[in-house]
Order: sequence, then structure tokens, then C-alpha cells
Amino acid sequence: MHFSTRLMHVSPPDFPRPRPINPETYRGSTILFESAEDLNRAGRHEYSGITYGTDRLPQQRLLEEELRSLEGASLTRVFPSGINAISETILAFVRAGDHILVCDNAYGPTARFCSEFLARFDVRTTFIPPDVSADIEAFLTPQTRVIVLESPGSNTFEIQDIPAITRIARLRGIVTILDNTWATPIFLDPFRLGVDISIHSVTKYISGHSDLLMGSASTTQSCATQMAKHYALREIHVSPDDCALALRGLKTLPIRMKEHESSALAIASWLQGHRLVESVRHPALSTHPQHELWQRDFTGSSGLFSIVLDPAVDERGVNAFLNSLQLFGIGYSWGGFLSLVTAGVPTRRFAGPLTGKIIIRLNIGLEHREDLMGDLEQGLKKINI
Ligand SMILES: *Cc1c(COP(=O)(O)O)cnc(C)c1O
Repeated sequence: MHFSTRLMHVSPPDFPRPRPINPETYRGSTILFESAEDLNRAGRHEYSGITYGTDRLPQQRLLEEELRSLEGASLTRVFPSGINAISETILAFVRAGDHILVCDNAYGPTARFCSEFLARFDVRTTFIPPDVSADIEAFLTPQTRVIVLESPGSNTFEIQDIPAITRIARLRGIVTILDNTWATPIFLDPFRLGVDISIHSVTKYISGHSDLLMGSASTTQSCATQMAKHYALREIHVSPDDCALALRGLKTLPIRMKEHESSALAIASWLQGHRLVESVRHPALSTHPQHELWQRDFTGSSGLFSIVLDPAVDERGVNAFLNSLQLFGIGYSWGGFLSLVTAGVPTRRFAGPLTGKIIIRLNIGLEHREDLMGDLEQGLKKINI
């Protein structure tokens, strides 16, 4: 069955029947037991119902079930933000003395969580090249427990050879985690490529309307028990209202992604020919350094890519461009209906061709692409060189 059909028909087995299309929202609360016997069963962890507000209320269970089905995973849990999903998932699989590998182009707060927070608990992080492949072998130690990938990576969009990495990790019992926020489950199936845990910032495309923060982690069978146990131990709570909004947004994910994909590709191709644009970083363009890997592993591309302007354009020129845009909002995050822009020089440990360059990141929203191109064109005209 196709994604779009499946998404409309997910129905958890434990929902009461007959049921409305959208279940009512349960607020975080005390959940009353029917009897003293049920209370006693809950005390012995033998009760199958919901025991308390932190025990994943129905709205959350439905959202997790839809995401699990969409990803073809064994288990899905949602978290209060994308970065929280990433940090809790890593925590679920490491202990003091362990070593982890993190790709150099990972989302900034992911890298900081590893190098600053985990370090305090004697979990050591080594950053690996953003386009790492089977050469990951050289970075492994006997203590390596987890590999964190993000492909394409934040801002610079390098792609990792995921199957080459997961093949090596599986042989050594190392857990692989992929931040799959860019591609969404629509354009990349991480489990087919041997990944153990797929993470999304639900804040982005999955909810799609810039009205909530949330994250998700979906696992294979082999990681499900440990993840479920960690989640329960941490008593993580996600707002039922946010779950209801995410469920609403998720229904239109497949059609939104088609529009993001085609608009972004049209705009990226057009920008590639602009005299002030030195390069465009978009994995679906044949000029992308790992374009062949993208073609092999992904089934489509989303609406987020970067450009680098002509080296003669300085920071003032970049600011003039950003400030003149009328349709692109200046702001972090992405994946919603509104087109957005950010600019900055990414911190990188592995010097590549983009070292020290100002990267302008464009989030192509759901406005008409001709209007967006017109806005970018008038903005580029404000650069005087
Ligand atoms: C935004 C983002 C996150 C974090 O998501 P939040 O919900 O904002 O915490 C994680 N990974 C990637 C690739 C992101 O772009």
C-alpha cells in the first residue's frame, strides 16, 4: 500500500470502537483505575492500560503508531523536541566509558550535546568526515557503541554512504542512529539501508505548519526493548495538544513533500545559473559531490538547500540580500509552509571546499515558486559588486 493510503487508515488496535476519525484529546492527568485490583496490578507492572499522564496518552499513542507504520519500524516514541529525541536516544544506548562517532555535519546542538554533555559522563565523542563511507573503520575503537549520522547534513548537505557504514556497524554490534529529518520517511527508508534508529525533528516537515516542537525516534526490533525501557524510565511527557496538531499535519506530508521537492529543484537549478551564485548545495543536482549516493539511496529531495555567493560578496552584501527579501522570513528551523532563510559560517572540524564560507540556507515553502524566484532575484540585485 502507498504511504498516502496507509497514513489515512492507521488505527491502533486498542482504540475504542466505534470511534471518531480524530480521537478526542486527553489532557495530562491522573488516570483513574476501575478497581483496587487494577491498582495492584499496575504496582506489579502487570496492568496493560494507561496508568498516568506520563504513560503516553491516547493522542500520543496514535501519533506514534502512525509514525511507526510510516517508517516500517518496530517501535516509535515521540519527544518534546527534535534535539530531545536525539539526546535521549543516544543516552538510551551509552554508558560511562563508551565511545561514539558523530558525523561532522550533524545539527549543531547534536554535536554540542555529545562533545559537552556526554563528555561529563565519560562518554567520548569522535567527529567523522561529513562524507564518510567504509573509511569509518579507521575511527572505530573497541569501546565504540553508537554511530550518529545525518545525511544530508545540516547546512552543507554532504551525504554519507549509509549502507557501507551500517554493514560495518552490524558486524561489531554498534547501534547506528540516523537523523532523517531532511528526507522524511517519504524520501528515505533508513531501515532498508541497515540503520537501527531513525530520528525526526517532527517540528519540521512531519508536522509541517510551524506550530509545535517535537521529535521522534523509531527503532528496529533489536533496539525496541532498550528504547522503550529508557523512555519509561525518563518519564518523558509530550503535550497531547501538540500530538493532535502533529497528527493533523502528518496527513498531508506526502502531498506537501511533492510540492517542496519540485519548487526547491526549480529554484536551485535557476540559482545555479545566476552570475552572483558560486555554488548550489542540493543533493538532487548533478553538481552535488555525492549526487550518485543520493540517487542510489533516496527516492526524492525536500525543500531545503544552500547556496554560496560569489567570493567577491562580503558579509555586508549578504546582509543586504537577506534584508531585502520580502517573502523569505529570516529565521531558524524549516520544513513549514513559509519560506525561510538563514546565513552563517558553519563550524567544521574537517576542512572542505566550503571552509570559512558564508552558507546561505533556503527553506523553500509552499508559496508559488515564481514568486519566490522573483523575490530572490530582486534581493540579489541589492548586492553591489
Ligand atoms: C531542527 C533540527 C533538529 C532539532 O529539532 P528541534 O525540534 O528544533 O529540536 C534536529 N536535526 C535536524 C537536522 C534539524 O534540522
